[in-house]
Amino acid sequence: MKRTIYIKFILAYLTFGLLSFLLIAVIASRMTLNDLIRDNANTLFRETNLISTKYAESFYSESLSTEEVSEQLEAIDTFTSSIIWIINKDGELLYNSRESDQEGDHITIEDFDPTDTGSKNYMTGDFYGYFDEEMLSVFSPINSDFRIMGYVVIHTPMSDIIKRRDDVLSIFYISLAIMFAFSLIILFVFTFTVFIPIKRISIATKEYAAGNLDYKLEVKARDEIGEMADSLNYMAERLQMTEDDQKKFIANVSHDFRSPLTSIRGYLEAMVDGTIPEELHEKYIKIVLNETDRLTKLTNSLLTLNNLSTKGMMLDRSDFDINKVIKRTAETFEGICKEKKIRFKLVLTGTDMFVYADLGKIQQVLYNLIDNAIKFSDQNSTIKVETTEKNETVFVSVKDNGIGIPGENIKHIFDRFYKSDSSRGKDKRGTGLGLSIVKEIITAHEENINVISTEGVGSEFIFTLPKAKNIED
Ligand code: ADP
Repeated sequence: MKRTIYIKFILAYLTFGLLSFLLIAVIASRMTLNDLIRDNANTLFRETNLISTKYAESFYSESLSTEEVSEQLEAIDTFTSSIIWIINKDGELLYNSRESDQEGDHITIEDFDPTDTGSKNYMTGDFYGYFDEEMLSVFSPINSDFRIMGYVVIHTPMSDIIKRRDDVLSIFYISLAIMFAFSLIILFVFTFTVFIPIKRISIATKEYAAGNLDYKLEVKARDEIGEMADSLNYMAERLQMTEDDQKKFIANVSHDFRSPLTSIRGYLEAMVDGTIPEELHEKYIKIVLNETDRLTKLTNSLLTLNNLSTKGMMLDRSDFDINKVIKRTAETFEGICKEKKIRFKLVLTGTDMFVYADLGKIQQVLYNLIDNAIKFSDQNSTIKVETTEKNETVFVSVKDNGIGIPGENIKHIFDRFYKSDSSRGKDKRGTGLGLSIVKEIITAHEENINVISTEGVGSEFIFTLPKAKNIED
């Protein structure tokens, strides 16, 4: 059987119970018995002493008659319910409180040796085989003329003492049973507050490990175990989210690759089988080229995003003049701007403005923002690129008077593959990756990007960059 914590706990609990029982049964029992024997022996010793000094000496000196002594000793026998003997030092039994005829032949206790008691004044056992049952026998010497004449011995059955010991032990056993019953309550509490929640957590981790991230772990406790369960639930949710994101990402990539590939294939097949007449081939080859451009752009964007996330924060920062970079980037769009009759308005701080950032990546940011501004602007409109500074920060703004972004879409524009419905018609070649690349780059710089946009009026994207430190303004 598997050794769960619970089984270990129950085993420890039972071992504890068994040990407590054994402790009482063996050690406490022996200690109590010894104590009771000592106690009884002390009491009886006082009696033997009394008898020895008061009556036994008279018994020897015959100053009291045997009857008188007998009477007294029988009274003590009845009172203490014990047998009183007077033995002479050779072991001859001169008086026995349980025998009426004291005059007959005296028996002699064989092997009688008062030193057998050692340093004590009592012994337990059958008293040299005289009794059938175990007795406690207490001695006291009888002195006359500074000589030991004999002994007063009081015997009391051990069964009485053992019965008293059992009475005391039963109190111990009852206390132990009550303690055990109480600790059972603790065991129940432990079962419901620790064992069952841990069992649930263990089942949940197995489910998560098997890939079932939907599994809901139900632990309501507000203690450390509850916290652990909450963390696991949170972890599963996060993992599920990443898994969902990945699935969505792959679905988007596949979709964006499939549609241009389908149209390329369609046009090429139509040209091969003659559905498209030869005189129209040039027109359709241009369309096919456009589609391959889109595929190239999509692949490049994916590679850029992948590089950004795998290289993480690895930026190649340097000091450069952002105003110069803006001017150069704007120039690359001259051709398309002429075509669409779009005018650039650059409002730049002073002559130069040095920032500390990754030049290549910031060029990419500017390119993507200006590209979008042109894409989503109508003919004859103006695009304004502006730099301003405040404290140690430079603000770069790219503003257009284009179609704008509907309020409900603004929160999604930085998501991968997001393209708003209104832009789809205008921008057939968009990949929906441009702004997510921008966001990744700015976040990697630990800077911010914001968008202000009104549908039908225009959009403004503003991002921040840190000013270069070692350049004098
Ligand atoms: P795409 O490459 O498709 O333009 P982006 O990530 O750059 O992808 O942009 C995502 C979406 O954000 C676009 O499809 C468009 O709907 C919206 N958008 C971005 N820039 C602008 C802008 N200047 N004006 C209006 N809409 C914009």
